[in-house]
Amino acid sequence: MKTGLISLFTNETELSADVESLLRKKLIARGYKVTEGYDEKAELLICIGGDGAFLRTMHRCDFPETPIVGVNTGHLGFFQEVWPEDFDQFIEDYERGNYTIQKLGTVMGIATDEDGKTYTHTGLNEIAITGSNSYSIHFDLSIGGKPIERFSGDGIMVATSAGSTAYNYSVGGSIVDPRLNLLQVTPIAPMNTTAFRSFTSSILLPSDLTLGIVPEKSDKVIYITTDGIETGYSHLKEIEIRISDKSVNLIRFSDYDFWSKVKDKFL
Ligand code: NAP
Ligand code: MN
Repeated sequence: MKTGLISLFTNETELSADVESLLRKKLIARGYKVTEGYDEKAELLICIGGDGAFLRTMHRCDFPETPIVGVNTGHLGFFQEVWPEDFDQFIEDYERGNYTIQKLGTVMGIATDEDGKTYTHTGLNEIAITGSNSYSIHFDLSIGGKPIERFSGDGIMVATSAGSTAYNYSVGGSIVDPRLNLLQVTPIAPMNTTAFRSFTSSILLPSDLTLGIVPEKSDKVIYITTDGIETGYSHLKEIEIRISDKSVNLIRFSDYDFWSKVKDKFL
């Protein structure tokens, strides 16, 4: 809904602060009211920074449905769409409706402890389940309620398509076109012994399947990390991982091309 209100988010760099003040001036001159930080009446959210700043903004606002556009002041951002020198074109395209919405799914993990208490974590890039640094983690993994494997190793990563170019790629996962709404499960340094069996490559799951993790009792601390935000738990009974119903509505203009970004960043 066009409310005339736009919420701005900025990371701490000097460049971002300069870019923010330029953009704020242009938006105000155009008749918009601008807030610093999230306002639920905003018609548009603008995040200035890199991918990390974008992820932090999404977590801080708890993944609102309001359309969001990223302004790039980092390296080459996958979530970003606008460069500071293109602000006039951006405002014009936005007002004329010359854009599409790219819907990005999120992944969620629900952990249950031995007392039945539950803890929910949501990630736009990924959720990683790992042990403490120098010990392997052991758990039984099920897919859609069916037992699949006994895992031992550093852990597993469950990435969204949007997150496929981040940590997922570094641990050997595949790059996925964000038009595909799926989960990619990648083992991190799995052991394959007579006692433990794990897939050695990534597996892809459709959006309606749930992954179940039942840790071995002897494992002391288990870390659940979503988009770089780490939480440690002891005595977890189970973790369920699936696509959540929260999604991010990213604004994209006509020259957006995922695969050109991939080429520019990696090749
Ligand atoms: P960070 O450790 O400062 O940055 C990790 C790098 O990943 C940054 O260059 C960041 O880009 C980039 N990145 C984030 N999301 C991306 C995406 N969807 N596609 C391609 N690149 C992406 O942490 P951060 O900036 O807070 O970002 C958190 C993310 O870092 C986590 O979700 C995880 O995916 C990733 N990470 C990667 C590794 C690894 O590759 N070994 C290890 C830990 C975490 P910007 O420079 O634009 O911020
Ligand atoms: Mn970063």
